[in-house]
Amino acid sequence: MSGSEPHHLAQDHDPDWTPERERDEVLSLRAPGSGAPRRDIPVTPVDHVPALVERVRVVQEGWASLEPADRFRRLRRLREVLFHRGQEVVESVVLETGKPYQEAWMEVGVVVEHLRFLERQGPRLLQEQKVGAGWFFWKSAHLLREPLGVVGVISPWNYPFVLPMDPVVAALYAGNGVVLKPSEHTPSTGLLIPGLLEEAGLPPGLVEVVVGHGELGEAVVLGGVDKVFFTGGAETGRRVMAAAARRLVPVSLELGGKDPAVVLEDADLERAARGIVFGAFFNAGQTCVSTERVLVVDSVHDRLVELLAEEVAALRVGGGRGTSDVGPMVLPSQLEVVERQLSQAVAEGARVVTGGTRLDPASNLFRPTLVIHVKPEMAVAQEETFGPLLPVIRVRDEEEAIQVVNASPYGLFASVWTRDADRGRKVAVRLRAGGVSVNDTLSHYGVAGLPTGGVGHSGSGRTRGREGLWEMTRTRSVFMDRSGFRREMWWYPYTPRSERALAALALMRAKGGLSGVWIGIRHFLGLDPTRPQVEEEFRGGGG
Ligand code: NDP
Repeated sequence: MSGSEPHHLAQDHDPDWTPERERDEVLSLRAPGSGAPRRDIPVTPVDHVPALVERVRVVQEGWASLEPADRFRRLRRLREVLFHRGQEVVESVVLETGKPYQEAWMEVGVVVEHLRFLERQGPRLLQEQKVGAGWFFWKSAHLLREPLGVVGVISPWNYPFVLPMDPVVAALYAGNGVVLKPSEHTPSTGLLIPGLLEEAGLPPGLVEVVVGHGELGEAVVLGGVDKVFFTGGAETGRRVMAAAARRLVPVSLELGGKDPAVVLEDADLERAARGIVFGAFFNAGQTCVSTERVLVVDSVHDRLVELLAEEVAALRVGGGRGTSDVGPMVLPSQLEVVERQLSQAVAEGARVVTGGTRLDPASNLFRPTLVIHVKPEMAVAQEETFGPLLPVIRVRDEEEAIQVVNASPYGLFASVWTRDADRGRKVAVRLRAGGVSVNDTLSHYGVAGLPTGGVGHSGSGRTRGREGLWEMTRTRSVFMDRSGFRREMWWYPYTPRSERALAALALMRAKGGLSGVWIGIRHFLGLDPTRPQVEEEFRGGGG
């Protein structure tokens, strides 16, 4: 569909047309850099969602009943499809977000890595597993991992390909179907996904994309799905969790962060400055795991700021192909957040070292900005910024840095910069975060075996890696008796002998080892009688 045709049709031919109804019928997409109208897409009516979920469920049941090897073979082909159609995906991402091509290719690369991980590890991770039966050593216990059914995936606009695809491929590997609700700002890339899957040989209708606003996301949560995988802001996450509670649907929440970079006095400052600037300005800072604040110890503060200033000033702003490093902000409203936090910080005593303004007032391009003399209590150091703005906080030492980091309600990712690897690791594990890097930033997201997820206001649940795959499964415990015994000794009727047998078993397991076996046998044979005092009291007192 092109231009604004449906917009006019709605207005011209429908006597009931109102601006609110238009909102219900089309999404009018705009170019991120200029704000120029780009394309209209019809929205999915909210009340269609339950039927759609049921349609996906029918296809999903067929998908789940295929031999796992057949499912895995088709999913392997998805990598081939991306080999041929990766460029098309990249074009779509660039069109929707304005980000540099290199960053859009990163989205494709990260999905490919995830697929490779699932190819290698998925079959084993989903296999039936024998579990030790403990004191029931003559029985067998097994754990099966089964699909959940239909998973509702709700994703944001900053990474229109990788953020929906990561949970979608994990869900499909595990045998689920998906109803995907991409952000209203970047639905076109989400709409490509079913075609890619079908080309790989997956059944049509296994993944359905719904297009619309936030209320459609809520309709997905309430529409009969078996799980919700939500990526977005903390506020929306709260609403999603509340809606899910109404139906007792399990939720995974991948929310925002205020990721710190802790720079210690023994850091390689040049590497730290380059790495932090990449971590802060990649995707114009619109990354959940972007570096959102630097905590640098006093003794190297001035030198680090000098180096950061050089790196930030050298960034070229523009987006698209080849010659720029930092693209536009996707949403004007998010740019306003950046400007508000910055002006507030300046009013409270912070100083802009470089950047601080839009490239031109009408555009969404904001100059990469370094701001110093920031205090931990300022909004710019507390709230998620989600834009090209890097605040620097001076701290006395390592301890103060850890204290400031851990005072944040967010805990997504963090980095520590030091030449001493042991020290880096020790500091890293004391930071409140779902993940940490030492002397690096962002690259961890390219390691598909490392799950991503946060603590506190950064959410719960994990995506990618073993845990990400298992998030898309439900366990079924299978317990079997193959002994052929006529009865178990603890079944009715209770007798002094059965009581002794059970007590002997418990004591044997509690003590452990050979002496445990010895005690157990003695107890069972009545050689070690322990008549609990409680029984006498019970009989005496209870009458
Ligand atoms: P939002 O929370 O605004 O939206 C996320 C998705 O939820 C969108 O599809 C949105 O639809 C939908 N939605 C809105 N309201 C509801 C509702 N009541 N019920 C269900 N779904 C709803 O986030 P943004 O799109 O603004 O994305 C930015 C945020 O995402 C940042 O905070 C960022 O940190 C976080 N994020 C977290 C990541 C992680 O892995 N931890 C990764 C990337 C981003 P619509 O767009 O139509 O409003």
